[in-house]
Amino acid sequence: MGTFSRRQFLKIAGAGAAAAAVGSGLSTRWWGLDPDPIPDPGTEGDRVVPTFCELCFWKCGVLAHVRDGVVTKLTGNPDHPLSRGRLCPRGAGGTGLLYDPDRLKRPLIRVEKRGEQQFREATWEEALDFTAEKMLAVRREHGPEALALFLHGFGGSWFKHLVKAYGSLNISAPSYAQCRGPREVGFYTTFGSIIGSPERTDLENSRCITLIGSHLGENMHNTQVQELADALARGAGLVVVDPRFSVAASKATHWLPIKPGSDIALLLAWIHVILKEGLYDADYLAKHAVGLDELKKHVSDKTPEWAWTHTTIPPEKIVETARFIAGARPASVIHPGRRVTWYGDDTQRARAMAILNALLGSWGRKGGICIPSSMDIPEYPYTAYAHKPKAPADMPKGSSYPMADEVLSSGVCDATIPGTSEYDIRAWLVYGTNLVKSLPSPARVQEAIQALDFLAVVDVLPVEIAGWADVVLPECTYLERCDDVYAATYKVPFLAVRQPVVEPMFDSKPGWWIAQEIGRRIGLSDYFPWKDSTEYAMHRVHAAGYDCDDLRRTGVIVGKAPPAFEEDGLELTFGTPSGKIELYSGQLRDAGFDPLPVYTPPEEPPPGMFRMLFGRAPSHSFGRTINNRLLCEVFAENEVWVNDRICAEQGLTDGDRIMLVNQDDARSGPVRVKATRRIRPDCVYLVHGWGTKEKGLTHAYGKGASDSDLVTRFKTDPIMGGTGMNVNFVRLERV
Ligand code: SF4
Repeated sequence: MGTFSRRQFLKIAGAGAAAAAVGSGLSTRWWGLDPDPIPDPGTEGDRVVPTFCELCFWKCGVLAHVRDGVVTKLTGNPDHPLSRGRLCPRGAGGTGLLYDPDRLKRPLIRVEKRGEQQFREATWEEALDFTAEKMLAVRREHGPEALALFLHGFGGSWFKHLVKAYGSLNISAPSYAQCRGPREVGFYTTFGSIIGSPERTDLENSRCITLIGSHLGENMHNTQVQELADALARGAGLVVVDPRFSVAASKATHWLPIKPGSDIALLLAWIHVILKEGLYDADYLAKHAVGLDELKKHVSDKTPEWAWTHTTIPPEKIVETARFIAGARPASVIHPGRRVTWYGDDTQRARAMAILNALLGSWGRKGGICIPSSMDIPEYPYTAYAHKPKAPADMPKGSSYPMADEVLSSGVCDATIPGTSEYDIRAWLVYGTNLVKSLPSPARVQEAIQALDFLAVVDVLPVEIAGWADVVLPECTYLERCDDVYAATYKVPFLAVRQPVVEPMFDSKPGWWIAQEIGRRIGLSDYFPWKDSTEYAMHRVHAAGYDCDDLRRTGVIVGKAPPAFEEDGLELTFGTPSGKIELYSGQLRDAGFDPLPVYTPPEEPPPGMFRMLFGRAPSHSFGRTINNRLLCEVFAENEVWVNDRICAEQGLTDGDRIMLVNQDDARSGPVRVKATRRIRPDCVYLVHGWGTKEKGLTHAYGKGASDSDLVTRFKTDPIMGGTGMNVNFVRLERV
């Protein structure tokens, strides 16, 4: 585990998060279920069940401590490579989801007009029959591709299988076109491999880490933050480029408060300095890369002085940081970030970051970006899918995103609006994603929803999208179910299992059961031949030659790691057309795009308006945790960061309540001002996910502002269809 201490971890996460991690599942006063059913939180319980977390996509190993049938505490599994004995504040607060009194308790069927939230309780028999009848009608009348599945989370695999067997490829996750897609395409076109999840950065061995708009620590992905803390404790350098003085910026050797939207200009200027001063890894490039001459020519006029006019970063600071970053190569990593859908040129921004990593020789090198591996677990021997499905309907007529390698959720949503696509989508199945908040342009989303023949929602909580559904199918939480086995692609290969810690509460059911029951009702029994998910998962584990009992006892089996770095004898290979790192991308050129990243200044905020930026808090996973009473003890609602000079000019003081009103007159809901010098005066900042209008979320309702309601426009990335959402401006209106 290295030299890193728990205290450092909590410092990186920000002061507020500390309380949650230390408290880990102890608060009972909000339960409303029983006066005090939980034993002393310090006790270990009468049994400990290993499983893995679902409070975010990172999937850390969890040890769930149970006493008298109640989960008293969640701790990190010390044997699990992603938790290394620790959980982040959200993971530790997972009992706040399990015991949330607002959970969906039994199936619901809509009785009034869509959106009016009039439901009646139904039996499972009734709700599943209703769902099956609607799905059969859609397939009969419009073909199987008229059904789309939107999903988020590991449990979505059962529904993916169901919808593939049904005959549709319209299966998408907003986490692609609304989050990490441009990063994957930018790195893929450069190195022939995506970054993937969990990110393949090797921060623990880095000598210099550069974060560009990525606020690790507030963006709390457990192992990465542990490694960042370790690296800083060892004396690694940290360069943070962010218009906001984030928690990471407060730990940085250099903080560059860049003008929002000008990252490509800074990256090109850094590349210019590194090439001009010969600071790059010439041997590595000679062996592995093509396009150096074209790159040199391309950035010859991208001087620090040129970049200064766009970024507002002084030229001498650009030169100093370029030397600082290059001085630590190859153990110097430009972190690829995660949510990178900002300005519509995001694939090219990711390309610039990938090129810089290549110049540093950090791909496939220790302290840079590792080459991960995974354990080989055979697929379950299902019957082959009978249909030859049509291609996904995720591109409106006339558009084409040639590098998109996943289905675009925003495109599927648009294709649902009549007349916009080659074929109409008539039904949605939504698993674990609150589309109303996760897709841009709320009016378009509502228009699509109103055009549907059928909308089914599977979720744990009554999030907004459930309010629009025809049928709501309540899933139990990750602590009450088994899912598929998780064979991670990581620097250490491992196999982890999710298993039920306690019985499902209320009348909720596991996702595998819901998918299987729907499948049986629509004639797809052959695709669900297993008794339950445990039988399915253990079949795969057994077929791979691993000991099922061992896995269930420990929660994880760690494999032997093959070399992950060139220094350890790994022969680097690249999946690009040339078989080399492509500094100059022939693929992009042939598809009609710039083969090297080009900077185009974004539109400026109109007078009196500010660019709206949004991000994360360490104790929350966006809207997924805003109703979690435990986590809200640490961070109760978002506030809007406004530069203190702007506050003085507008007569605002810290704590005033204001409304954000965007360029299209969309309004955020009232929100408290955080007057601070920690943000530039040309932008404001919100933590994403708050401002719910769903009254069923009784704890979160009425708290904070909704940034989603203000994303009424976006700029589409022409290369892969990502939706750049940092193009909205707001003015501040006193409430
Ligand atoms: S990073 Fe935190 S929330 Fe995410 S899986 Fe790990 S413990 Fe859970």
